[in-house]
Amino acid sequence: MAFFEGLGVKLKTEEAGKVFPVSDRAGTVVDAFTRELGRLKVAINLSERVTELDRSADGWSVTSDKKDYQAGCVILAAGGRSYPQLGTTGDGFELARRLGHRIVKTRPGLVPLELADDELRELQGVKAEAEMTLAVKGKIVARKSGEMLFTHYGISGPLVLDLSRLILDCAGKPGNMVTVNFFPDYDSPGSGLRCRPAGQAVWLIPVPVPLS
Ligand SMILES: Cc1cc2nc3c(=O)[nH]c(=O)nc-3n(C[C@H](O)[C@H](O)[C@H](O)COP(=O)(O)OP(=O)(O)OC[C@H]3O[C@@H](n4cnc5c(N)ncnc54)[C@H](O)[C@@H]3O)c2cc1C
Repeated sequence: MAFFEGLGVKLKTEEAGKVFPVSDRAGTVVDAFTRELGRLKVAINLSERVTELDRSADGWSVTSDKKDYQAGCVILAAGGRSYPQLGTTGDGFELARRLGHRIVKTRPGLVPLELADDELRELQGVKAEAEMTLAVKGKIVARKSGEMLFTHYGISGPLVLDLSRLILDCAGKPGNMVTVNFFPDYDSPGSGLRCRPAGQAVWLIPVPVPLS
């Protein structure tokens, strides 16, 4: 945070601990980086795809679809594979793999969830405070409260995004269950909405817009 504030980006920390620029604009962060790179006289070459990275006698050779470069050192920061439209195609993993790195299988980690059942779609646009509980083989492994948003495809909102990684690990396996309770302060089994066990029907499917 000190680094960004040093670049003139005023920050705010929200309740859940997430930090944003006071402007609420991602462009504020991009502008700060651009100014700092300019100050350090770093050349920026856009719209150029790196296709090869190789060790050379005195450092590295970098091949792009436009040009070859020589460099003393290379930082590979090509993102993940979550959003190809923004350039994160998974190239970085392949470049790293070719250099001998072991690549762990990637999976969605911060995603809204699609419901296979249509019955809740009428609620699209409705936001509600809820408590989600994830049980694996009858044992509660995660419980979290927060805001849930019903959408035309399923459920989203901070609560769902935060638990999505764990839910996707367990979805589709018999004995696993996600329960959504909209009245967590009332301890009655009838007070919440009980979703189907993930093992009986594939009711939770990742929407293909995972984040990096
Ligand atoms: C919709 C959305 C909302 C998000 N909201 C937040 C948020 O509010 N707060 C937060 O902290 N995070 C948020 N994230 C996550 C955040 O964007 C990522 O964690 C972050 O951008 C990862 O940074 P990175 O530098 O590793 O990769 P990236 O930002 O993905 O940058 C990688 C870059 O490498 C380039 N590249 C890839 N392959 C090549 C190649 N072969 N040659 C040349 N260039 C290449 C890509 O074009 C891209 O510009 C959000 C993500 C998404 C998609």
